[in-house]
Amino acid sequence: MEKFEGKSILKGVAIGKIHYYSKGEQVVQRVSVEDTEAELQRYETAKETALEQLHELYEKALKEVGEVNAAIFDVHAMMLEDDDFNDSIRNTISSQKVNAEYAVATTGDNFAKMFEEMDDEYFRARSADIKDISERVVSVLHGATAKNALGDEPVILAAKDLAPSETVQMDKTKLLGFVTEFGSSNSHTAILARTMNIPALIGIPVDEKLEGRTAVIDGVTATLILDPDEETLKLYQEKKQEEERQRELLQELKGKEDVTLDGKHIRLYANIGSVGDTAKVLANDADGIGLFRSEFLYLEKSDYPTEEEQFQAYKTVAQNMAGKKVIIRTLDIGADKQVDYFHLDHEDNPAMGYRAIRICLDREEIFRTQLRAILRASAYGNIGIMYPMIISVDEVRKCREILEQVRRELERQDIPVGEIEQGIMIETPAAAMISDLLAEEVDFFSIGTNDLTQYTLAIDRQNAKLDSIYDSHHPAVLRMIRMVVENGHKSGCWVGICGELGADTTLTGEFLRMGIDELSVTPASVLPIRKIIRESTVK
Ligand code: PEP
Ligand code: MG
Repeated sequence: MEKFEGKSILKGVAIGKIHYYSKGEQVVQRVSVEDTEAELQRYETAKETALEQLHELYEKALKEVGEVNAAIFDVHAMMLEDDDFNDSIRNTISSQKVNAEYAVATTGDNFAKMFEEMDDEYFRARSADIKDISERVVSVLHGATAKNALGDEPVILAAKDLAPSETVQMDKTKLLGFVTEFGSSNSHTAILARTMNIPALIGIPVDEKLEGRTAVIDGVTATLILDPDEETLKLYQEKKQEEERQRELLQELKGKEDVTLDGKHIRLYANIGSVGDTAKVLANDADGIGLFRSEFLYLEKSDYPTEEEQFQAYKTVAQNMAGKKVIIRTLDIGADKQVDYFHLDHEDNPAMGYRAIRICLDREEIFRTQLRAILRASAYGNIGIMYPMIISVDEVRKCREILEQVRRELERQDIPVGEIEQGIMIETPAAAMISDLLAEEVDFFSIGTNDLTQYTLAIDRQNAKLDSIYDSHHPAVLRMIRMVVENGHKSGCWVGICGELGADTTLTGEFLRMGIDELSVTPASVLPIRKIIRESTVK
């Protein structure tokens, strides 16, 4: 039995076998699939993306190292379109009913071996190229789903690091917990783990030797126990059962109002990152959705989601919530949420860079497509919209103006549109400081304490070294929250918190006394917070 201490992302217990995931080494699992047509389509889409990448590499190399050296990328593209290679991949998927990653990797290996055994030196050299090509397609597929990281049985996933784009694509039913060596507790990967209600630890040494070992994650003591002895295993099985019992006790709060002892009603909403998360919102009986991180729709794709795809996603959520509020935050891409097809330049300081509303107001077509989808969906439920990373009145006016233009365009096309509340995230000190002015422009504020803490304290939320001083309880942050509530109320705006601090039960009472109208938290935090609201007074 071995023990490692790390940092806890979620206070829960997980027990299971570890699967080591390494994007660098492209560990490919053989996974049986039912829907081979969908798998074939995944392959075709990944192939197209790989071809685009090769084309871009060719153009880049042409400029930087000349035509002769650039030609290799053209050769790779030709090889990727080779009929025999493609037939073998398609045939493997269809006849063996396996995932595309596995089909590409095995075909790549077979072809590489075949080239290796040829007499001609030129062809022998192509063996490495074939490997390179299949690895490229596999890595696109990894990026496109990352679910191949998981086999058929649920596992504790161990990785050096996990990007939000990888985490979001994993099949949550196959995940018992996460363990990573790097990453910070305020990153989006950590937020996703909390949304998925999956015990997770960071700061644990991870390597391939963990593969297949039985482990326990103790989220309370932030410990990973490897090869637990029988007694330890029994202890944790009991702890897990106790967790279950506690969860069940909270169930009796379902259907109860979110009202304080002295009669103040609070909107208790939940945060989601995907359509699938709506089930958790309903299961935990939240009053609505206070933050739909729409960028995750973009992160799970290998190309821009179309208006129709987005419309279907927003409409489904709105309909599932059956008239309860659904606040969709417009695209907040950039910083730690990177998507290849946006082709964002490398930045030294991306958290303060080209991201979120800055991209939307610069690349208006992307923004308009999303706004059309949201407005169309608003005819099917109670949708609100909010804009992230706002720093000025001017930005808000531009957003509102574009939304108005899109609305008129839809009306001209006789496409139904519903009423929609508009709000902004208060997550920069600039927005907090001018919240009196911003309040005149919008219907509501939603305080993003994750970024507000990062920018107020000048602490990169991604930097694991600074995790211990990233303090959302800092008086500067709490004063800003109070100020935003007061300024919002003066102009009739309701004010909520959708950052992780909203779920911090040690502060719920204080937030209520500040006059907070809404708390939007991870679905699993809804009932614990309801309990506190119902036991609190605001005076
Ligand atoms: C926040 O910054 O608090 C927030 C809710 O947005 P995100 O965590 O997605 O940046
Ligand atoms: Mg934010």
